[in-house]
Amino acid sequence: MEPYLQALKNNRLKITPRRKAVIDLFASCGVRMGPFDVYGKLRKKLPILGLPTVYRILDELTKAGILVKSLSEDRQLRYALCALPGEHHHHFTCRKCKKVEEVDFCNFKAVSQFIENKLNAKAETHQLQIEGLCSKCK
Ligand SMILES: [Zn+2]
Ligand SMILES: [Zn+2]
Ligand SMILES: [Zn+2]
Repeated sequence: MEPYLQALKNNRLKITPRRKAVIDLFASCGVRMGPFDVYGKLRKKLPILGLPTVYRILDELTKAGILVKSLSEDRQLRYALCALPGEHHHHFTCRKCKKVEEVDFCNFKAVSQFIENKLNAKAETHQLQIEGLCSKCK
């Protein structure tokens, strides 16, 4: 729990019971969930929680690097808990079973250097979407 609370602080998000409840839910379930799943599971515990709030919290936690967003086979939003919050890394999503795995590697430095040499420009941010088949589906 501690690295997730730290990630909230680093992103200037207050540790509220709602945000904590959402992180707790993902930590205890260990599966990918959509906004409706989260809403359905937390409604009993937090009756004041509405669906729009769930959407907002999922979005905030994704921006803070706590959750990883992906799309299901039928293009529905799914979220999973990131195992390395706060550290820069990427994710590998299996296109078949949709499992999300941590990729603790990044060559952005080399790419930025290339861009600087080739385009005389300064690269600032990047996104990397890696999809394929996981060890089981392969
Ligand atoms: Zn991650
Ligand atoms: Zn798979
Ligand atoms: Zn990177």
